[in-house]
Amino acid sequence: MPSSAAASAREILTRLHDVMAGRNPAQAKLDAVVGIIAEAMDSEVCSIYLLREGVLELFATRGLAKEAVHVTKLALGEGLVGTIAEGVEVLNLDEAASHPDFAYKPETGEERYHSFAGVPIIRRERAVGVLAVQHSEQRRYQDVEIEALQTVAMVLSELIANAGLIDTAGAAKDRVQSTAAVRLMGLKLVEGMGSGLAVFHQPRVIVEHTVAEDIDAERHRVYAAFDKMREQIERMTREAEFGVDGEHREVLETYKMFAYDEGWARRINEAIDSGLTAEAAIERVQQRTRQRMRQIDDPLLADRMHDLEDLSNRLLRIVSGQMGTAAQLGLRQDTILIARNLGPAELLEYDKRRLKGVILEEGSLTAHVTIVARAMGVPVLGRVRDVRRLIAEGDLLLLDSVAGNVFARPSAAMEEAFDAKLALRQKRRAAFAALRDVPPVTKDGHRVTLMVNAGLRDDAAALDVTGADGIGLFRTEFQFLVSATLPQRERQQRLYREVLDAAGERPVVFRTVDIGGDKALPYLQHADGDEENPAMGWRALRLALEREGLMKAQARALIEAAAGRTLNVMFPMVSEAWEFAEAKALFEAQRSWLAGRGRRLPLEIRYGAMLEVPALAEQLDLLLPEIDFLSVGTNDLTQFLFAADRANPKLAERYDWLSPSILRFLRRVIGPAREAGVTLAVCGEMGGRPLEAMTLIGLGIERLSITPAAIGPVKAMVRSLDRGAIGAFVDGLLARPPRDMRGALAAWAAENGVDLA
Ligand code: PEP
Ligand code: MG
Repeated sequence: MPSSAAASAREILTRLHDVMAGRNPAQAKLDAVVGIIAEAMDSEVCSIYLLREGVLELFATRGLAKEAVHVTKLALGEGLVGTIAEGVEVLNLDEAASHPDFAYKPETGEERYHSFAGVPIIRRERAVGVLAVQHSEQRRYQDVEIEALQTVAMVLSELIANAGLIDTAGAAKDRVQSTAAVRLMGLKLVEGMGSGLAVFHQPRVIVEHTVAEDIDAERHRVYAAFDKMREQIERMTREAEFGVDGEHREVLETYKMFAYDEGWARRINEAIDSGLTAEAAIERVQQRTRQRMRQIDDPLLADRMHDLEDLSNRLLRIVSGQMGTAAQLGLRQDTILIARNLGPAELLEYDKRRLKGVILEEGSLTAHVTIVARAMGVPVLGRVRDVRRLIAEGDLLLLDSVAGNVFARPSAAMEEAFDAKLALRQKRRAAFAALRDVPPVTKDGHRVTLMVNAGLRDDAAALDVTGADGIGLFRTEFQFLVSATLPQRERQQRLYREVLDAAGERPVVFRTVDIGGDKALPYLQHADGDEENPAMGWRALRLALEREGLMKAQARALIEAAAGRTLNVMFPMVSEAWEFAEAKALFEAQRSWLAGRGRRLPLEIRYGAMLEVPALAEQLDLLLPEIDFLSVGTNDLTQFLFAADRANPKLAERYDWLSPSILRFLRRVIGPAREAGVTLAVCGEMGGRPLEAMTLIGLGIERLSITPAAIGPVKAMVRSLDRGAIGAFVDGLLARPPRDMRGALAAWAAENGVDLA
């Protein structure tokens, strides 16, 4: 803002400050405000319109007919004022009547005035009103005057959000009146439907105080915040040096560029000079950038804008001291959470009862945050471009990840359609629930074992709800992820015992902790600093065999929890047969130690390995004689077979589980496992999809451990399937794989009446 604009804005702001601090009723305050602005800008007319029940109402004016106050009303998009509010844009016209949107309101007597300038009054990125000035002589207002008007509008937004004013005038509520509905598309990561109000994982700061008391103090606050933000970005870049993929690195580089951008810092300082607080100045500059960007249609630039938005929000949060995530602030109503991306531990911090869905700008199908959300029964839509720009906090959202979309600010008709679909879905779920007690047997009489994947205490309840055969994968690391400190042995033991109690006669396979990768624990830092590639790094069994204390504590917790029953233990990320042998020896040593102290022991300990590192497949002859069961983790297996990071959103849709490589790999394992008498299961996300499950059964897999919500659909599929027929078909396909395996399998399913839900 040029200094003369700063000066004129400052003069107005000083006077507004006194008005706002006064004890007059709201209407009187507004009347005073229009007077001050008209005088300071030497303007014949100054009017304030506020959005009330979706309509812009003239609330105060200097210059127009007083009788028009609370009488003149314009819909969003109607007339110049409606156009400004709808588009959140500025109009500056020397001849108002010649603008195509001009709407003449005779009661105002405005026909005498030719020039017109109006700016939106913005709160939470939406217009809640319009501030306009008019003049009888034909002239365009100067840029400095428009700047001053915008600064004043910012202060007005505080004034009208002020409780006293809203009560008296019944004007704009804190939640902005909804504007047009939008539909955003994304990738289904966790199937489901949910509705709630939009909450940002990193909440946007609402600027409460706009007029500075002490400009120097505000300037110092911004300097300090810039320093802190730059420090944070430097740290993030340093930490990312070793462990972050390309996309994140790009983002960080852009962050860095903006964080040191002198132009940005200067504009904020100028806004402070005009009399705004540090928070208001940051927001004011951001509003201006947003408005400029609206006029430029360039996707690349839009991406960069995102980054600047992020950074601007970060600066605001630092300056205002509001650093917590939405989880730490607590959810107050049914919520759809919005984030660029999330870690599994961050998601687990949310109140499950109020979290009705998650929308991510990034995200991938087998990232652990997706798996955790699936376990929590929370639908997730990923890869939704621009979500944080197109949706405002507090918007009502209807999330339907099945259809791959979300409606924001829906119309009544959209809500009705959503409710109808939800009801239908619930009916289908009820139909699946009715399958609870029928066994998963194929049409030709083969019994398939369907178990659930679990990790949270409440998950054991899924056994009774779904009628599953047991828990085929209990991810013990979830307890570690939700704890602020390393869970002590007693706490681990208590959880394992509760899960076993809930399972009763049904088997539970406890997988020892798989931490590292995208499941980093803050309290378990790597001794050698960060890893360049954590998914392939020091994780799971690799870490556990070296941190013996951790593994020993878990072994004792498991052995003691399973006293008097069968304990099934499974080791993750086994890459060579000796690793399994070492892990088993460690457990056996704990068993002997406990036996030596006369403790009650499990009746039997059965040991298994996960097959998720391809190298292990070359040592099956060494491994199979030593183990009781083997479980294929297709999530990791796929990432290692294809050398494609499972958490990288760019690769989210690139490789198909129904690729010949994966299917042929699995087939190579099935024969030797069967010959060795080792139970073989698939426990990756792949098995939870009916078409994939059908194909696995065709390959000869007889045991699946899947997400609880998939038990019903997969069981329905199994009961409509002829195993002999699918076996022959898959054999044929693998001998000469078509380009479109998925298409061929889906067509076969349709022809053969397989129920794919
Ligand atoms: C897998 O890798 O397929 C698996 C089941 O384990 P996780 O997803 O926990 O790595
Ligand atoms: Mg795995």
